[in-house]
Amino acid sequence: MSDNIIVIGAGVSGVTTALTLQLLGYETEIIADKTVSDVTQNNNHPEFASLFPSASVIPHSVYSHRLEELFKQSQSFFYELRKYIFPGITTHKHFEVFEFKADQPEYCNWMLNFTSIDELSETTIPRRYDDQPLYGWLFDCIFADWSLYFPALITLYRQIGGTITQQKLNPEDVSNLKSEVIINCSGTGGPILFDDPSENQLIMRGHLLHKADAPLITNDTDEVISYNYTPQPAVYSDAEGNACDVYCYPRKDGWILGGSRQLGELNKANNWDSLSESSAYTVKEIQFPREIITLNNEILSHTYDHSFEVSDDITPSVGYRYIRNRENGLRLDKENVSGKTVYHNYGHGGAGVTLSWGCAFEIARQITSRNTKEFQNELLEKFSNIEMEKLS
Ligand SMILES: Cc1cc2nc3c(=O)[nH]c(=O)nc-3n(C[C@H](O)[C@H](O)[C@H](O)COP(=O)(O)OP(=O)(O)OC[C@H]3O[C@@H](n4cnc5c(N)ncnc54)[C@H](O)[C@@H]3O)c2cc1C
Repeated sequence: MSDNIIVIGAGVSGVTTALTLQLLGYETEIIADKTVSDVTQNNNHPEFASLFPSASVIPHSVYSHRLEELFKQSQSFFYELRKYIFPGITTHKHFEVFEFKADQPEYCNWMLNFTSIDELSETTIPRRYDDQPLYGWLFDCIFADWSLYFPALITLYRQIGGTITQQKLNPEDVSNLKSEVIINCSGTGGPILFDDPSENQLIMRGHLLHKADAPLITNDTDEVISYNYTPQPAVYSDAEGNACDVYCYPRKDGWILGGSRQLGELNKANNWDSLSESSAYTVKEIQFPREIITLNNEILSHTYDHSFEVSDDITPSVGYRYIRNRENGLRLDKENVSGKTVYHNYGHGGAGVTLSWGCAFEIARQITSRNTKEFQNELLEKFSNIEMEKLS
């Protein structure tokens, strides 16, 4: 097996995979059309998903037959990195609240300190008004403060000798790449560069508002609180009539307020074709659902005594969660293309950060033919020697 590996894509999947292999002794090069530092206007590049994550480590809006194993690998590695004080990694007390009885997703079993909200005092639960029946749960959740975490990951990759080359690849370029092993982390670029066996190419578009200079929201014991809150469908729903959630994630540089999950498809030009257009509010020329403002304001003011105005310190953005299909959308397989071994790592939907370490480890396990636990220990040993403050 060659020690030179080319990774296509400089989003969170590409950088995490390249970093893992570089730390394990391979010579890696990332080739990417764009990196986050190249982009000045996020809204001009909705297809580059790593410009947008909120970024909670919860497997929302992602479809994989291997979800549990990939998620647990990722989650436990994030907890280890937090012990080393890797920039941006924190934990939140995260609420998922509903105004109706909702089925508990399987991932609730994988979260630490899971508690049903029946067991909590009413005043601590995010709510819009008093005396409203609410359902849901609370758990500990890893949160990667994106403005700190992702730049630190890229800095570390470069510090240990990884290189990033700016180049937009075409399918015919693949056979000329100077490596026998290629890892395809090109997100929505995947089906353009390589044949994709999925019949569907679904995108779930998401709107976010960044409210600058907002305070951390904390509980009585100074733990940071975040929430997803789903009202009755009559209050906020998608084109198919399903209830939609809003959310708030406090981070160092303000609040990330969401959200929307609007289903569409990639058309032949690899752009999003809307299945519906329900936007109603416009700030800085970006339309977004009015409920992101109204519902979050109701919850924040009623529960936490905070509120916000639609003013200049709110920056809206809209990005694509590439879910591919709702059966097994995450593509994590390998094939032979023009005599090269290509590992695919794309289609992470709304959980690319969440699954980033799990997917990187799965590819590293195949490339190294080593036991995952064994090389994870080697990685942790290397992380323990990194001067974290130099990554910020
Ligand atoms: C609104 C929103 C909220 C989200 N919130 C969360 C969250 O809370 N938690 C979470 O885990 N995830 C979240 N996500 C999902 C997450 O952002 C994505 O799953 C993740 O960023 C995907 O990363 P990626 O590296 O696979 O792809 P991308 O970030 O899309 O990167 C693709 C890379 O490939 C390159 N590329 C593409 N084509 C070519 C080509 N032909 N030649 C060279 N380079 C190419 C691109 O330039 C880019 O560098 C959210 C997404 C959105 C939109």
